[in-house]
Amino acid sequence: MEIFTKVKEIKDFLDELRRDKLIGFVPTMGALHEGHLSLIKKCKEENDITVVSIYVNPTQFNDKEDFIKYPRMLDSDLEKLNKIGCDIVFCPDDKEMYPEKDERVFDFGGLDKVMEGKHRPGHFNGVAQIVTKLFDIIKPHRAYFGKKDFQQLVIIKFLVKNLNIPVEIIGCPTVREDDGLAMSSRNMLLNEEERKVAVELSKMLFYVKDNYKNFKTLEEIYNFVYNHFEKIPLINLEYFEIVNDTNLQRINDIEKIGPGVTACIAAKVGKIRLIDNISFE
Ligand code: AMP
Repeated sequence: MEIFTKVKEIKDFLDELRRDKLIGFVPTMGALHEGHLSLIKKCKEENDITVVSIYVNPTQFNDKEDFIKYPRMLDSDLEKLNKIGCDIVFCPDDKEMYPEKDERVFDFGGLDKVMEGKHRPGHFNGVAQIVTKLFDIIKPHRAYFGKKDFQQLVIIKFLVKNLNIPVEIIGCPTVREDDGLAMSSRNMLLNEEERKVAVELSKMLFYVKDNYKNFKTLEEIYNFVYNHFEKIPLINLEYFEIVNDTNLQRINDIEKIGPGVTACIAAKVGKIRLIDNISFE
């Protein structure tokens, strides 16, 4: 496994390889878990060379405390990557990624005005800054993103289309713990009690998916969900939305629930912010 920290060095190395090899890329912020590893496994199956980046990107954090607390464990990440057969790791520092302040402002055609974008101002602009920089350095043929970050996946697909970036974006299924909680690097920040109640997020998504036909209106579903979380003091629900996968707008009729529609949830469990979603396909 080759490990690079410098932009110029990984660029030169990949420019050589790209001539006759398919390059697959998995961008991450580290603290790797089975969710990340599933993307890497898929990338390995579908490409000649798998590149993984590990970089906690400051510009996508709107909450300073979240950025400071974000788990960083490069040594154990590198061990996992080596074991799984990753070919190339890119783990730059801030000076390498942002030698100058990045002033770029991206247009997401309104996709950033709802849910995560609404609750985390500037988040997707920061994501776009780092992802476009990484795509420019790695120039992958394919890049792998988790459906766990559903809105991010939709926005990245929009971005590469809009900017004509020649990369195929592949969405990968959400990997869950045995009880259903979506795997996340932030889960390790939960204490025992918080970890126990965190499962309520995925439980609610599965419940709504299995039982939406028992409700008469969307409003009934929203009331049910909000009332449920009112009763759990450790959970502070930020939003629950049932949206159209293409424009991320709330659907306006319960009859529209079905393929092409996704239920998304975000909540703080204690001080830790978690998100999850489920598709009605
Ligand atoms: P992160 O390190 O959180 O930025 O995530 C890196 C990539 O892994 C993103 O494309 C995420 O959507 C994806 N990812 C994170 N958690 C999971 C999960 N539980 N299942 C599948 N993919 C995931």
